[in-house]
Amino acid sequence: MEASKLHQQCIVFDAHCDSILDVLEDKRTLEQRSSEGHLDLPRLQEGGVTAQIFAIYVRREYLGRAAHQTLRALDAFHALFDRCTDDVILATTAADVERAKADGKIAAIIAIEGAESLEGELALLRVYHRLGVRNLGITWSLRNRAADGVNETRTGGGLTNFGVELVEEMNRLGIMIDVAHLAPAGVRDVLEISQSPVIASHANAHALRSVARNLTDQQLAGIARTGGVVGVTFVPYFLDEDWKRASLGYLLDHIDYIVKVAGIDHVGLGSDFDGFPPPPPTGLEDATCFPNITVGLLERGYGEDDVRKVLGGNFMRVFRQVCG
Ligand SMILES: [Zn+2]
Repeated sequence: MEASKLHQQCIVFDAHCDSILDVLEDKRTLEQRSSEGHLDLPRLQEGGVTAQIFAIYVRREYLGRAAHQTLRALDAFHALFDRCTDDVILATTAADVERAKADGKIAAIIAIEGAESLEGELALLRVYHRLGVRNLGITWSLRNRAADGVNETRTGGGLTNFGVELVEEMNRLGIMIDVAHLAPAGVRDVLEISQSPVIASHANAHALRSVARNLTDQQLAGIARTGGVVGVTFVPYFLDEDWKRASLGYLLDHIDYIVKVAGIDHVGLGSDFDGFPPPPPTGLEDATCFPNITVGLLERGYGEDDVRKVLGGNFMRVFRQVCG
């Protein structure tokens, strides 16, 4: 099958972007096509993306009122969904994503990046779940009440008591657990404790690019054992040491490698669009570029079924299993 036709047929699932931050800072809206940033609804549509996870990340200067900032972001999302009913829907289940695909709309899945947003209260997790949140990263790169992030190298702690309760409550509610940014001890704890598949929404292979944010072979295999998925990320610095030359080819190398270590059922996409500074990798400049990945995978000899899995089938499997 022709690459463009296959791409159109697939559910393309991008497991991470930070685009809501620009909206909160009144830089742009997501419904209008912009030359700023990497991603908006028209560009997702052009790139053939069906499901987009939008992360709420609380900037460091707002940590003193993290819940307030999280609710502001949730308000911005719901306002967008109310305004743009023809273009985007809030997706809380796999069936919502399938409906969006059939209707030619974007399915937006809301995530929170870092348990700071909970301010130590599982009650807030339950409220966020009611407001549509279906994915939560335990930490960003720093320490919080649930665990240490990857930059907390001196202590490198795993899950706290609160972190353990958080994982159990996420299992119970049906929220995907995301270990991107989590320090190795925390990843080990989550893999041991979680009763549901675990994801790393945006990370690459440490064997190809040795930075703390990338996953070791053991971690890749551990995520696969839970039935989870690793979303390869376009962040140039996580693709190659010489990040200025990063390109689609490097992303495909990380996909090949993770397929080798974790298996074809455990790789997906997690762009991190609007979450990294310029320049973007060549061939992955913005959300219109997703079809290039399909072309690249076919050129590397992946069969149609395998392309479907990497583009979105694998994340859909986990989303259905965890969230319904
Ligand atoms: Zn991130």
